[in-house]
Amino acid sequence: MDFTNKTVVVTGSGRGIGKEIAAQFVRLKANVIISDLDQGAIDETVSQLGSKTFGIKANVTSSDDLGALYEKTLEKFGSLDVLVNNAGITRDTLLVRMDEKDWDMVLDINLKGAFLATKLAAKIMMKQRRGRIINISSIVGLTGNAGQANYSASKAGLIGLTKSAAKELASRGVTVNAIAPGYIQTEMTEKLSDEAKASFLSNIPLKRAGLPSDVAAAVMFLASDEASYITGQVLAVDGGLTM
Ligand code: NAP
Repeated sequence: MDFTNKTVVVTGSGRGIGKEIAAQFVRLKANVIISDLDQGAIDETVSQLGSKTFGIKANVTSSDDLGALYEKTLEKFGSLDVLVNNAGITRDTLLVRMDEKDWDMVLDINLKGAFLATKLAAKIMMKQRRGRIINISSIVGLTGNAGQANYSASKAGLIGLTKSAAKELASRGVTVNAIAPGYIQTEMTEKLSDEAKASFLSNIPLKRAGLPSDVAAAVMFLASDEASYITGQVLAVDGGLTM
């Protein structure tokens, strides 16, 4: 795969899975916009990944931030070829204890953020008559998970958004797909209890936790020319957990 002269925006790419997605795109010669909330993490990632990256601070819940992000992307590199909606958070607790604030925050960042980023990117990609949008959902959007009603609802919503956008944008040469990672080793899953981690691991047929690189490799494929006939799909990267 070769992404020479292609420009990629990865939201939430200052750390974790997003950072690894950015790193794999750089290795395959893309121009990559590193976008995150934390300027320190952006600067560190840009200095590690090198001159084909450009950092822009943007909160995905702000359409003003996203508008400025795309304006800068076009000014710097001239096109927007791939958007990866990766930014996401968890605020886990049982449904009966869940504050409205934690419901709203998770839905705002994980789902509304992807809607806003997709809406603005779609306008650019429709004009170009090409583009790839890849949404990082989760297997809990397919299965549900005790303690994650807000997060599961946001990730299930992202799958609905993926399929609807895929239908609307297909005629303009834009594909939209989702990846549903299982248990991937990052700071997000580091917060899980030892009991929850052991329970996940014992149920994974491939008997290991996933790595950010496993998710990033699936993103590379869906963003590539080789995947041009695939749209509206959800690809689980979960060691066989949901088969
Ligand atoms: P992570 O290490 O917590 O990284 C999430 C990134 O999103 C951080 O860089 C964070 O920035 C950024 N972010 C949070 N709120 C944002 C906002 N409002 N605007 C822009 N950026 C924001 O998580 P991860 O494990 O890499 O997860 C990446 C994606 O994969 C998420 O969508 C997650 O739901 C999904 N996923 C992860 C797993 C897993 O096992 N790890 C499984 C399934 C799905 P700050 O550093 O500034 O907070």
